[in-house]
Amino acid sequence: MSAVLEIKNLHVSIEGKPILKGVNLTVKQGEVHALMGRNGSGKSTLAYALLGHPAYTVDDGEIWFEGQNVLEMEPDQRSRAGLFLAFQKPIAVPGVTVANFLRTAINARRKEANPEDKGISIPEFRKLLTTKMQQLKMDPSFAGRYLNDGFSGGEIKRTEILQMATLEPKMAILDETDSGLDVDALRVVGDGIKSLIGPNLGVVVITHYDQFLNFMRPDIVHVMFDGRIVEEGGYELAEKIQKNGYDWIAQKHAVTA
Ligand code: ADP
Ligand code: MG
Repeated sequence: MSAVLEIKNLHVSIEGKPILKGVNLTVKQGEVHALMGRNGSGKSTLAYALLGHPAYTVDDGEIWFEGQNVLEMEPDQRSRAGLFLAFQKPIAVPGVTVANFLRTAINARRKEANPEDKGISIPEFRKLLTTKMQQLKMDPSFAGRYLNDGFSGGEIKRTEILQMATLEPKMAILDETDSGLDVDALRVVGDGIKSLIGPNLGVVVITHYDQFLNFMRPDIVHVMFDGRIVEEGGYELAEKIQKNGYDWIAQKHAVTA
């Protein structure tokens, strides 16, 4: 059975201020969704709430993944269950190299699947990392650098895709993975994501960029406005937004005081 992420009537507040006001979203393994919406509509808040960030309070609603109650799981459990979240502004982890970080994450996943697992061997890990880094056109020296420490925008994004490629999640939420990338980096990152898309991966791409959307060709497009998903459709909805912007959505859905 394919994995399903189900978000029902999610209400989230930050420091007492309601941000998400009833989000409903279902994503199945194998599907590519786009989440659009103007700045401040709540897209990143949804991603943080999915991860279980402590600053984001869930006031109401449910999140289910493969029949498990996500809201009862710690952030690391969510990740080990196969949820992957790439953030708009990921944190730097000085002292932990990219390679160490990935190996630790892979081993945690393997141990979760089988408590007897002894972990990935160093040669096996090296081979995996080299292959994936070549695919993403990353310099091999990158593996020895501290995670996100002094990385350029493009390097951060490539590292995220490298994490995704090595961890093989079932469901990935990518928050503006395309922002700050030049055309070449966009192509590498886009190709990287595309090469991972398949029956075993569901993806939600949060983005504004025409080029990226055009590249990803989402099956389903959702548009957020004021903490809710107010429009849903196929790729033509993304094209409409690319052509007309978000004003029509605000006019259609704004609650007049
Ligand atoms: P988007 O990703 O769609 O641009 P966000 O989820 O980042 O939107 O933000 C939604 C709303 O939440 C905005 O009004 C923003 O100002 C507010 N917000 C986001 N993070 C915080 C925070 N840490 N503290 C207070 N308000 C926040
Ligand atoms: Mg955002």
